[in-house]
Amino acid sequence: PYAAIGVEINVDYVSAVATDLAGERLLAWRRSFSAGESVNQGVANVAAVIRRVVNRMAKEERQVLGLAVAVPGLVDVNGTVRIAPNLGWRDADLGGDLAKALRDPGFAIQVDNDANLAALAEQRFGAGAGASDLVYLTGQMGVGAGVILDGRLRRGRLGYSGELGHVQLDPEGPACRCGRRGCLEAMAGVGAVLRRADPSPAEIEIELEEVVRSARAGDEATLSTLGAVGAALGRGVSIIANLLNPQLIVLGGYYVPLAPWLLPPARAAVLDGAIAPQAGGCQVVASTLGHDAAALGGAARVLDSFDSGRLPG
Ligand code: BGC
Ligand code: ZN
Repeated sequence: PYAAIGVEINVDYVSAVATDLAGERLLAWRRSFSAGESVNQGVANVAAVIRRVVNRMAKEERQVLGLAVAVPGLVDVNGTVRIAPNLGWRDADLGGDLAKALRDPGFAIQVDNDANLAALAEQRFGAGAGASDLVYLTGQMGVGAGVILDGRLRRGRLGYSGELGHVQLDPEGPACRCGRRGCLEAMAGVGAVLRRADPSPAEIEIELEEVVRSARAGDEATLSTLGAVGAALGRGVSIIANLLNPQLIVLGGYYVPLAPWLLPPARAAVLDGAIAPQAGGCQVVASTLGHDAAALGGAARVLDSFDSGRLPG
């Protein structure tokens, strides 16, 4: 039997999923982790994770068909990570470096944007099952969009589409890690939720759990922060609604546990900010795949590249 592997590198965690040919999960793994120090450190850490997954598959006598790695940044059509603002990576040949670190693993390694792969997973297995026009929004330190129109992922000329996180909502707003000000992700990413531009990656998850607890307890300051974050997010969604008229916007990552507080202000901001009546039928929902989405989408991308009976062996 075969296996496809997807891995996601994010600012504060790495996750891995292996699936069979039908996309059923054989393994799902996630660990907090800091990839941000340097590309080299990131490559070494991720290679260690991949080795473990490959060994597990070997034990189960599964042949690995391929690997796709999701990264929080702009990946060009050749698979080079051009800019990953929240990791501080630039022009990294992640696929090549991983292949070297794994000493020619015998399968292809693809690299893609996290939001793109998560969008694929949502369309196939998640909240967007069967939807032809959907946009996935990552809720991480960064915010990115994976755009599916007419059933297909749309990457743009060089692969950089969907950078909603760096749409400037307020020229005088908070500093963004891309070097600009008032970008959507500076106003609606995890940093905005935690009210700190530079939360330590090791603490993001714990601190977000505290935010959820305070929100449940009705803490005023927390509720007002989440209201503002939801409204900023909704402005972003209204831009997408005006531009693309999707049927579905899926909020993923850390937006999922925060959805009860983010969705109402976000939906109101969409109706308010988009011109189409009822915002053109655009629904805003929370992801059903949570933090697995990008890794699972990686596995789906591998499976897609083997479609139509081109299986090896
Ligand atoms: C990056 C995007 C990425 C998003 C979510 C943004 O800062 O520019 O490419 O998809 O973060 O990780
Ligand atoms: Zn920015």
